[in-house]
Amino acid sequence: MLVFKFGGASVKDAEGIINLGNIVKQYSGGQLLIVVSAMGKTTNALEALTRAYVGQHDDMHQVYEDIKSHHFNILSRLFEPGHPVFDDIQNTFVEIDWMIEDEPHDDFDFIYDQIVSIGELVSTRIINAYLNAIGLTSKWLDVRSYIHTDNTYREGVVDWQKTCEEIERGLPPLLQKGLVVTQGFLGGTSENFTTTLGREGSDYTASIFASCLKAESVTTWKDVPGILNADPKLFADTVKFDELSYNEAIEMTYYGATVIHPKTIKPLQNAGIPLLVKSFNQPDAPGTVIKEGVLPVFEKPVVIVKNNQVLVSISTKDYSFITEHHLSGIFAIFAKHLVKTNVLQTSALSFSICIDMNTDRFEGLLNDLKRDFKVKYNDGLSLLTLRHYKDSSIEPYIAGKELLLEQQSRNTVQLVLK
Ligand code: ASP
Ligand code: MG
Repeated sequence: MLVFKFGGASVKDAEGIINLGNIVKQYSGGQLLIVVSAMGKTTNALEALTRAYVGQHDDMHQVYEDIKSHHFNILSRLFEPGHPVFDDIQNTFVEIDWMIEDEPHDDFDFIYDQIVSIGELVSTRIINAYLNAIGLTSKWLDVRSYIHTDNTYREGVVDWQKTCEEIERGLPPLLQKGLVVTQGFLGGTSENFTTTLGREGSDYTASIFASCLKAESVTTWKDVPGILNADPKLFADTVKFDELSYNEAIEMTYYGATVIHPKTIKPLQNAGIPLLVKSFNQPDAPGTVIKEGVLPVFEKPVVIVKNNQVLVSISTKDYSFITEHHLSGIFAIFAKHLVKTNVLQTSALSFSICIDMNTDRFEGLLNDLKRDFKVKYNDGLSLLTLRHYKDSSIEPYIAGKELLLEQQSRNTVQLVLK
């Protein structure tokens, strides 16, 4: 049994969905589960809608209308008028209609998940209807009845035992009858509310299903030929890896490579399931295979850039040393605000942490830190990580930039740059 995951870029328009249909057709003889993200930039647009609703901005209805009309334009390119999918999509959006009529609830993360999840509910309904329309047998599955999470909205923590039990019981009979299409990124709580698993979390969804079903492999279909040593949008002369080890892939995602979601690899590694990263434009090309026991040769360093970084410097108010006691208090504050640290450095009097700028969480974090510490910060920075570098390979990346923090080990160098 195979698991395919199609990201937003691969289903951003009618051509993308037609292409998905052609790829899936070639594999429809075997058992196949298809995990799909929201179409194109829909998640960003739904995020904007959530903010407009919570802030009661004037443009809320416009933002919402744009999202709907974008989807209906795509529908009208794929289906004859009167096809039941038009009503189905209309009815799915009604959830948002109801929500935004009322006063916003005070839990932003909860509202976010109820609104943003509509992107995947809609995309999977469209794709499932399209696969049936081209003569395949496909069933739409509501992932929220299978992937069970706690109620940490926007970062749902998966209850693996309950999830695997449901998947093992529910999926095999469905997969025997035909294709199954389901939503990436979403989960459900025990009270039947919708959660999301963190941005770009659809890869993780695919890996959860694969691991519970002991799939042969997972394939994620992307707009790149496989995993490259650097982002081709930022660097010229990239090279593709034919194979990578699970370890290297985990390290790359840890440092911020966005090609796969960081939580994806562990379940696959544990179950020994290979992950294939392939191009949806060249479906027959081999892409990259991530599996056990690969020893790749790194001709060029792996380069990972994370933008929108903030470097926070924390020191004591009374000029005393930063001790373990202070550090544990500082980490507790970061954990409370669900802020992950990207690089850390301590000196006698200060502690520096580089984090992603998250405007929803930053102010609360600063306020809590300032209660006990002096805090300064520098934003708009980039964090550059080079793995398997040679000393000579660092220089060109720093040229013309201000280096605010550097951390070097034998294999990896991290640079915070302005
Ligand atoms: N649609 C979600 C996002 O854009 C999940 C995903 O694409 O994996 O974050
Ligand atoms: Mg996406």
